Amino acid sequence: MNNAFETIIGLEVHVQLNTNTKIFCSCATSFGDEPNKNVCPTCLGLPGALPVLNKEVVKKAIAFGTAINATINQNSIFARKNYFYPDLPKAYQISQFEIPIVGKGYIEISLNGEKKTIGITRAHMEEDAGKNIHDANVSKVDLNRACTPLLEIVSEPDMRSSDEAVAYLKKLHSIVRFLEISDANMQEGSFRCDANVSIRPKGDTKLYTRVEIKNLNSFKFIQKAIEYETQRQIDAWESGKYDLEIIQETRLFDTSKGITRSMRGKEEAADYRYFPDPDLLPVYIDEELMEEGRKIPEMPDEKRARYVSTLGIKEEDAQTLTSSLELATFFEKMLAQNINPKACVTWLIVELQGLLKDGNTLQTCGITPELLSTLIKRIEDNKVSGRDAKDVLKVLVKEKGGDIDLLIDSMGLAQINDDGALLSTIEAVLNANQDKVEEFKSGKEKLFGFFVGQVMKNIKGANPARVNELLKEKLK
Ligand SMILES: [Zn+2]
Repeated sequence: MNNAFETIIGLEVHVQLNTNTKIFCSCATSFGDEPNKNVCPTCLGLPGALPVLNKEVVKKAIAFGTAINATINQNSIFARKNYFYPDLPKAYQISQFEIPIVGKGYIEISLNGEKKTIGITRAHMEEDAGKNIHDANVSKVDLNRACTPLLEIVSEPDMRSSDEAVAYLKKLHSIVRFLEISDANMQEGSFRCDANVSIRPKGDTKLYTRVEIKNLNSFKFIQKAIEYETQRQIDAWESGKYDLEIIQETRLFDTSKGITRSMRGKEEAADYRYFPDPDLLPVYIDEELMEEGRKIPEMPDEKRARYVSTLGIKEEDAQTLTSSLELATFFEKMLAQNINPKACVTWLIVELQGLLKDGNTLQTCGITPELLSTLIKRIEDNKVSGRDAKDVLKVLVKEKGGDIDLLIDSMGLAQINDDGALLSTIEAVLNANQDKVEEFKSGKEKLFGFFVGQVMKNIKGANPARVNELLKEKLK
């Protein structure tokens, strides 16, 4: 990428809130039901049907505002955003325009050890649209998703690279997951992102034409789309065609070709003819609801700091553990089994995670925190060596769980803590390597590891700590 330019990125993220029912009616929000099963006069936009705001949506929005250190507006207003698509039967979307529920806030991202604050302009509640499905000859619409609650989170144009954009999104993703206000499943569209991208020569403070790339639903695509779009704009600038080729518009990212393509001219706010929705009262948050919403669980940053300061975990590992709710929860369940925090870190993020591939995840691998804790306890009790325990874990992952004690026995890994057997093997090894014993005694202490290795090789299930002790005595 050309170093004479910088990229200016602002992101709009739509998060589907995980309420049981829709934002303005009592239809279910479940995903994957048969088309048009979860609809009623309100979400179908039939005349005379009136929307009623779901209190849970407000509570979740307050929780989000609290987590990003934002102002929460006690009074906010729903507005109608007018546009015409078949997936929006009312011909307007109920959203918030002038006064959103969540005002200015910020989050902190960390990239290559450097911290940066990214401003959040606002977050507002709105309803989702349905889904248009285009077959060969016919277009259909499924309105199950119409009127499901969204929180739209708008950032300041504070990001300067695709890496920063992805770091911001991952942080936002972990915040909504830790708050448990959304499943944030990107494949199912519960966490989707629009990116506003522009460039300028470094040192310039002006903002140039920004292009919006819509509906990015994976971190990888977001990264690629921003990189492609940045290069397209730089190329246009350098060839003198910037004013001609770069216009304010909405583009789509073609995932198979890795390019962005023009979709339509970008609408300005005026095109939507926003006006306050006369069917809905202004939202007023009373003290009780505010207090309820503000009660939020420990957020990833706080967790990370606590892991470092009170558990003595390395910053980098704490970062990994708090990168997802699943990992942090798994870790804390292991701690609850009285396992040493450092052993938890090694066995969870190095050994177990290292074995998870091809779509196998912490949730699907069949290893519970209790099971992994049991394995660590067997090592601590000298029932199995740390090295052999790795083999046991491999089998557990392959078979999606199992009985650890039975496995240790059936794999012949039960550790020998009987000194007699260990001593005779040690003697045999030393006898067979007289020359090396001499070298060791004349100062080549590195050879100690060689002796340990030989003993371990010759006696299955030896306790390495005990082998070390006995060898030291013998070589004195
Ligand atoms: Zn409904």
